[in-house]
Amino acid sequence: MNYRHHYHAGNFADLLKHALLIDLIRRLRQRGGAIRVLDTHAGAGLYDLSGEMAQKSKEASGGILALDAADDPPALLGALLALVRDSNAGPTLRYYPGSPRIALAKLTKGDLYVGCELRPDDSDALKKASQGSIGAGRQTVYGDGYAAARAIGPFAGETLVLIDPPYEQGDDYDHVVETCAALLKRSPKAVIAIWAPIKDLETFDALLRRLEELPASSGYVLSTRLKSLANPMRLNGSAMIVLNAGSATPDEEAAAEWIVAKLGEPGGRAETYSLFV
Ligand code: SAM
Repeated sequence: MNYRHHYHAGNFADLLKHALLIDLIRRLRQRGGAIRVLDTHAGAGLYDLSGEMAQKSKEASGGILALDAADDPPALLGALLALVRDSNAGPTLRYYPGSPRIALAKLTKGDLYVGCELRPDDSDALKKASQGSIGAGRQTVYGDGYAAARAIGPFAGETLVLIDPPYEQGDDYDHVVETCAALLKRSPKAVIAIWAPIKDLETFDALLRRLEELPASSGYVLSTRLKSLANPMRLNGSAMIVLNAGSATPDEEAAAEWIVAKLGEPGGRAETYSLFV
């Protein structure tokens, strides 16, 4: 497994994913019960933007660093920026927190965070990066997040599953669909948020068509296309696909629109649409 999120931390795709994570936890909080977050592909938890990998890709420049320099970002991106600043001692954004720290910052007593990471080095880093956060219980699983999601037991409250694979191998698409099917069987009301790359539309649409065959009560897609699809080998955009949470909120749509308008090329497009209709 070659994928390292250190190259991509804080890029435009992380902004959409993490803004949505914040909003989904807020929405589940309104239901009144405890919240369990299962992060099937948790990563290292904290990324050094001055490190070799981040410096090589410079992806954070077209993401969190641009957001940091922006005037008046929309609410959810402002909330994300505040959390990123909390992970840094001074005004310079050297560190970018991943999904585990972002979720933990929004969880509280009685909640539970379970983060799975397959790489031993990133799993060790994840354990360190999620120490010191107060409130929610936390568990770091060294191992396969798809297996953890399939085996998930009952929880007295709301369950949010974030599925954020590298898609390094084509079978990640199969694993995502199979894992959602298994989750919906055992926890029919679980909210599932899936990150997906947009390289070419055929691959992306095929994933949506397969997800639409599942017995979820609702589904929506927040899609941000930042570049033309002329080169299907590069990351031209990204999307979040959300099952069982009703429809997108205006704040989520505003975040997607800002990302495309400020970080995309001319002709980029933010779209929100419903599944199962
Ligand atoms: N969710 C993280 C965030 O938003 O900060 C980023 C995760 S990154 C896109 C994907 C991570 O999944 C990598 O760290 C990779 O090592 C890990 N991974 C790959 N396959 C996995 C699997 N089957 N189970 C658990 N982790 C896996």
